[in-house]
Amino acid sequence: MRSVVGKQVNEVLDVLTKSFEEQAKLVEQARIAKKLESESLDGTLPCRQKKVGHRHVLTQTSEETEDTILGMGFQVVEGYEVEKDYYNFERMHLPKDHPARDMQDTCYITEETLMRTHTSPVQARTMDSHDFSKGPLKMISPGRVFRRDTDDSTYSHQFHQTEGLVVGKNNSMGDLKGTLEMIIQKMFGAERQTRLRPSYFPVTEPSVEVDVSCFKRGGSGCNVCK
Ligand SMILES: [Zn+2]
Repeated sequence: MRSVVGKQVNEVLDVLTKSFEEQAKLVEQARIAKKLESESLDGTLPCRQKKVGHRHVLTQTSEETEDTILGMGFQVVEGYEVEKDYYNFERMHLPKDHPARDMQDTCYITEETLMRTHTSPVQARTMDSHDFSKGPLKMISPGRVFRRDTDDSTYSHQFHQTEGLVVGKNNSMGDLKGTLEMIIQKMFGAERQTRLRPSYFPVTEPSVEVDVSCFKRGGSGCNVCK
């Protein structure tokens, strides 16, 4: 008797379970149908692009300098980061015994190959290849340079340079000053004043360094330029 009742109970449970599952299915189908009706998807719409990050400040500065100088008729020339001793030093009037060639400063790969310590080898190579019968040479050589140094907050074993070179007739120190002033005022503001100060570099004669007036215009006692 007990087994008959148990069997009937199970049959009733089966019917109820099936009925419930069917209803649940219908409810779910109705929900999906309603959702599809209310939402539409346009596959042809362009996606919204998220801007992530920005170009490195060194890249921005480098491009800004190049833009300025290209407008002044210079060409931009890039060279090798791994250079020959000959182009890096000897062509720059730095013979083998010159103090600037100290092993502390230069990262040598072999006796005659090194990581360039300045972008000057590009100048030597470009002077070699330039056809002067077709006109003067006006170039800049921006790029990374390397020194054998320990990094700290003010110094890096790898930094960036932009060198410029003009070889032609009737060029004067006035042209140099004018060119530097234009670049400086474009980069640091039109109100900047510049000053050339006599200096010494083995590769140029006469040699000057350029000073730029402080952006704070704080006068004496300025906490930026002192
Ligand atoms: Zn200042």
